[in-house]
Amino acid sequence: MPNIAVFIEQRDGVLKKVAWQMMSEARRIADTAGGEVWGVFLGSDASAAATEAGKYGADKVFSAAGEEFNQYNSEIYGTALAAFCKSAGPDILLIGSTAMGKDLGPKVAAKLECACISDAVGLKYEGGWEVRRPIFAGKCFTDVSPKSAMAVVGIRPNAFILEEKAGPAAGDSFDAGTSGIDPKAVVKNIESGDGGKIELTEAEIIVSGGRGIKGPENFELIEKLADSLGAAAGASRAIVDAGWVDYSNQVGQTGKTVGPNLYIACGISGAIQHLAGMSSSKCIVAINKDANAPIFKVADYGIVADLFDIIPALTDEIGKIRS
Ligand SMILES: Cc1cc2nc3c(=O)[nH]c(=O)nc-3n(C[C@H](O)[C@H](O)[C@H](O)COP(=O)(O)OP(=O)(O)OC[C@H]3O[C@@H](n4cnc5c(N)ncnc54)[C@H](O)[C@@H]3O)c2cc1C
Repeated sequence: MPNIAVFIEQRDGVLKKVAWQMMSEARRIADTAGGEVWGVFLGSDASAAATEAGKYGADKVFSAAGEEFNQYNSEIYGTALAAFCKSAGPDILLIGSTAMGKDLGPKVAAKLECACISDAVGLKYEGGWEVRRPIFAGKCFTDVSPKSAMAVVGIRPNAFILEEKAGPAAGDSFDAGTSGIDPKAVVKNIESGDGGKIELTEAEIIVSGGRGIKGPENFELIEKLADSLGAAAGASRAIVDAGWVDYSNQVGQTGKTVGPNLYIACGISGAIQHLAGMSSSKCIVAINKDANAPIFKVADYGIVADLFDIIPALTDEIGKIRS
C-alpha cells in the first residue's frame, strides 16, 4: 500500500495547478492500490493549501512554516523536502516539472540517495512503480521502474486530469530542519518580463504561430485568437530567430516543452524540433496552406487553408460563442 506525497508548489502565495493534477492522479492510484495521499507545503498559509488539497483527494497536508520559504531557494527547499521524506516516509514524492520542480527534484533525490525520474507523463502502481516518460524528443515513451525504496518523480503539467473529491485534508506539521541554514546562493532580484501572461508550460490551451504569419506585425492575429480562448501564445523557433517574438514564446527542442489539452499550430511546418516540444499535447489542430506539411501527421484536426482567412474568422466565431 503506497503512500504518495505531492509537493504543493507556491509562487508568491499562488498555488500551482500541477499540484492538484498530481493529487488527483495520486488519489486515483490510492483508491485502487490503497495507501494515503499526502500534500507537502512550505510556507505560511498551510490552511488554504489543505483546503484546496482536500478537494483533490489529499488525506493529509504536512507543512512547515518560516520566512525562509517566502522565496524559492533550492538548498532550503531541498533540505526541507528531504527532512519531510525522512520523517514521514512516503513511497514516492511527486513534484511538478515546472521551473522550480526541475531544479528541486534532483536535489531532493540526491539528498535521499534515491531514484529521480524526471519529466514523467504517466504513473502506475502494481506492487511497484512504473513511470512513463517521453524519450528521443517525444518520438516514443519508456516505462521505467525505480530500484530504490523511495523515488522522486517529476510530472509534466497537464499530464493528469483534475478530479475534485470532497472535504479539506487534515493538517500536520513537520520539522524542516532549515532554521539557521545560510544558503550558499540567494536570489537577489527577480525581473519578470511578461506579467499577467499565461505561462506556456502550464497553459491548457496554446495557439502558436510560425513563419506562415509572414511578419512580426501579424503575431497579433495569434495573440487575439489566444485571448479569445484564454490561451497562451507560442511560437516556432523560425520566428523567434527572426526577432518577431520573444524567446520566452518558443516551443520545441530548444524552447519550452508543453502539454496542453489543445494546441493550435498556425503556419508551422512541423519540423521535428518543433514537434519535440508539443507532440504530447492532448489535441492538436493545424492550420497550414500546404496539405503535405508534416504537422498534419501529428494533428488530430487539420485545416488546409490560408491562415489569414481562417484565424480572424475563428477568432470572431469564438468571440460570439463566448459572449
Ligand atoms: C538544433 C535545432 C534546434 C531547433 N529547435 C527548435 C525549436 O525549439 N522550436 C522550433 O520551432 N524549431 C526549432 N528548430 C528549427 C526547426 O528545424 C524549423 O526550422 C522551424 O521549426 C521552422 O519553423 P516554422 O514551421 O515556423 O517555419 P517553416 O518551416 O518555414 O514553415 C512555415 C509553414 O507555414 C506555412 N504557411 C505559409 N504561409 C501560410 C499561410 N498564409 N497560411 C497557412 N500556412 C502558411 C507553410 O506551408 C509552412 O508549412 C531547431 C533546429 C535545430 C537545427
